[in-house]
Amino acid sequence: MSDTLSRLRGELIAAGQFFHSKGWVPATSSNFSARLGAEDMLITSSGQHKGRLDDNGFLRADLQGVSLETGKRPSAETGLHTVMYRRDPAIGCVLHTHSVNATVLSMRLEEVVLAGYEVQKAFPGVETHESRLMIPIFPNSQDIPALAAEVNAYLDAHPQTVAYLIRGHGLYTWGTTVADTLRHIEALEFLFECVYRQLLLDR
Ligand SMILES: [Zn+2]
Repeated sequence: MSDTLSRLRGELIAAGQFFHSKGWVPATSSNFSARLGAEDMLITSSGQHKGRLDDNGFLRADLQGVSLETGKRPSAETGLHTVMYRRDPAIGCVLHTHSVNATVLSMRLEEVVLAGYEVQKAFPGVETHESRLMIPIFPNSQDIPALAAEVNAYLDAHPQTVAYLIRGHGLYTWGTTVADTLRHIEALEFLFECVYRQLLLDR
């Protein structure tokens, strides 16, 4: 067992416990992955509760999403992880959560525009609250290859994107390390809460 694999697994288990404590990974929803090397990744296996993951809740898969461990099936949404690792070798982690705020906003808005918030500086390359972050919202689909192709085309056209939502479903974001990506989730959830409360105040 490589040190990298056990370290990353420990980081993803801790991320799941943190997200669960916040109510961002209800039931067996959500999925987490981390890059192991140029051609493989560690990803949560199908049907796991993400707040109670243990060492058996993961498997190695290649960057086409094919399991490298017999008898273990990766998450149904694996294609949304592999598309990120294939498009950018600097991406080391992809995290997907299902919070109430992300879900509700995705049902009401066409996109989430983040502007004027200090916390936007949690993202790479963002140095001022005066920046403007657009979080696109894609229609939900059970056709993961089609959705992954749609996301990939959008990111080609909008390379500054830091995350996206799937309508009525949840949030995807990525980063160079698990810690980076966890920071992105935490910042986005804070920002979604702000946007949600502002919409209520503006009514
Ligand atoms: Zn999901």
